[in-house]
Amino acid sequence: MTNPNDRALPRAVRQAMPMARDVVEEVAKLHGVCIRPVPLRRLDTHTGQWELVDVPCGSTLEAKCPPCAKRNRQLRITQCREGWHLDHEPVITPDEPTDDQRWLVEFRADLQARRDEAEQLGEDTADWDAAIEGVDAEINEAGMRGNVLGRTAAKRVRSTRRRQDAPDLPKRKMTNTTLGRTFAAPDGKVYRPSLFVTLTLPSYGKVRDGVPLDPDTYDYARAARDALHFSKLVDRFVQNLRRVAGYDVQYFATVEPQQRLAPHLHMAIRGTLPRAELKQIIAATYHQVWWPPADDVRFDGDHFPVWQDGVGYLDPDTGEVLPTWEQALDQLDADPDAEPLHVVRFGQQHNIQSVLADTPAAGKWLGYLTKYLTKSLADPLDATAHSTARREHAARLIEALRAEPCSPTCANWLRYGIQPKNAKPGMLPGRCRGKAHKPDHLGYAGRRVLVSRKWSNKTLAEHKQDRRTWVLEALGQPDQTPDPHRYVWKPVPAGDANVPPLATRLLRSIRDRQRWRAHLQQLEAQNLSATRSAA
Ligand SMILES: [Zn+2]
Ligand SMILES: [Zn+2]
Repeated sequence: MTNPNDRALPRAVRQAMPMARDVVEEVAKLHGVCIRPVPLRRLDTHTGQWELVDVPCGSTLEAKCPPCAKRNRQLRITQCREGWHLDHEPVITPDEPTDDQRWLVEFRADLQARRDEAEQLGEDTADWDAAIEGVDAEINEAGMRGNVLGRTAAKRVRSTRRRQDAPDLPKRKMTNTTLGRTFAAPDGKVYRPSLFVTLTLPSYGKVRDGVPLDPDTYDYARAARDALHFSKLVDRFVQNLRRVAGYDVQYFATVEPQQRLAPHLHMAIRGTLPRAELKQIIAATYHQVWWPPADDVRFDGDHFPVWQDGVGYLDPDTGEVLPTWEQALDQLDADPDAEPLHVVRFGQQHNIQSVLADTPAAGKWLGYLTKYLTKSLADPLDATAHSTARREHAARLIEALRAEPCSPTCANWLRYGIQPKNAKPGMLPGRCRGKAHKPDHLGYAGRRVLVSRKWSNKTLAEHKQDRRTWVLEALGQPDQTPDPHRYVWKPVPAGDANVPPLATRLLRSIRDRQRWRAHLQQLEAQNLSATRSAA
C-alpha cells in the first residue's frame, strides 16, 4: 500500500488518500488520468526488465472511462477535420506493426483464451465475446487489416431471392479517386465543397419533447427493429452513395441518439453531389432483413423449449425438435412467397449542408459530429430535466427490445420456435446478453464512429503520434521515433496478486501525470529563454 506520508505524492492526492475510492477517481478525472486502466506485463528488451504497466482503457476496449473518452473525442475531431476537404489522394501502405498494435494482438489472444476457458466450464461467454469484438474493432482501427485469426467464417451461399435488391438509382462509371470535385470561381479561386448530412429513422408516432403523445399507438416494435438493423442501413447508404457518385466516396460519421431515443446519423462526406441526387439516394436506400419469421410468439411466460443433450431444443409439449437456424434459413430459401422479416429505411427528416474547408460553418458541423461521443446512447435520459414520461418511454422501448432477436445467436429465437445459431444449453428468451438489448444501447450495438478507410490517410494511432510530434516540436525537442521492437507485452491473468489495488495504481498515475506536466513546463521555459537569447 502507498504510504500517505510519501512526500513524492502531490498534497491533493495525499489528502485524498483516506477517502473513498471514488474520491481518488474524481482526482484522477481532474488530471485526465484513465480510471479503468488495464494492467499488462511489459518486457523492456533494452534493459531486460519486466514491469507492470497500466495501459489506459481508451486504447483497448470500446467502452472508455470519461477521461479516455474525452481524449479520444479530441483525436476524433482532428481526424474528422483532416479528412473532410483532403486535396491529395491518400496513400495506403501497410506499416510495421507498432507497439500499440502488437500488444493489442496479444491482449486479443488472451481474451480468446479466457473465453474458451469459460466455454469449457459451461459458463456464459457473452461478455468475453463482446470484449473480443471490441478489441477486434480496435485492432482494425489501429491500422491492421482483416481479423487476427486470419480466417473468416464460411459465408452461407444465399439464394438469389435473398440477396438485397438493388434500388433503382442512376449509376455513374466508377473513377479511381477518393477526392471530390472542385469548382473554379470567375476570379480563378478554386473551391472544394464537401457535405454534412444528417439522416434519421421514420416516425413511429407523434412525439413532443421526445415523448410519444400516445404511447399506445407509438410503434415500439418497429422502433426496436429499426434500431437493431440501423447499422446495416448505413452500410447500404454508403454503397448507394458510391455507386451514384461514381467515385470512392469517403466519410466520417457518428451515430447519436435523438430525443425520442432513436439512433440517427451525422455524416461528413468528402466531395459533393447535387442535393436532388442525394435526396434520391436517401429515399431509395433500404435494407432487407432475411431472417426467419419472428412475429408469432410460440413460447412465452414459463413455457419455453427445453434442451436435450445431443439433440438441441425441443417443443416442451410435443417433444418435437425445433428447426435449427440453418434449417429455418433453408425453409426461407425454399419458400417462393417468403418476405423479409423486416425492411428498414430512412425517415423523411434529413439535413443536407454544403460545407467549405476552414469556414465557421465547417467548425459548427464538426462540433455537431462529435458532440455526443463521450456519452452513451441512453444518456439523454440522465438529464435532470427529464420527466417520468421520458423514463417510461425508454422503459417501453427496452421492453420491446427484450422480445426481439438481436442476432442469429440470440436466445429470443426460442420464443418463435427456432433454435438460435450455435444453440447451447441454458438459453432463455429475454435473457440474451447481446449489447443491443442493454439500456445503454437502445437497440444499436454498432460502432459510434464510422470512418472510411481512406478518410484522413491516417489511423487513430497515427493521429496520436502526430500529437506527440507536435508537443515535442513546440518544446524544441527532437522527435525520436520510438523503437517499435523495444517492448514485449504479456497479459496479466485475472486476480494476479502482483497487481496493486486500483486506488494505488490511480494515485501513481496521477503522480506521474503531475511530474510529466512539471517537466513539460520546465522544458517550455527553457525553450522560451533559448529562443529569446537567439534573437
Ligand atoms: Zn480510461
Ligand atoms: Zn439478443
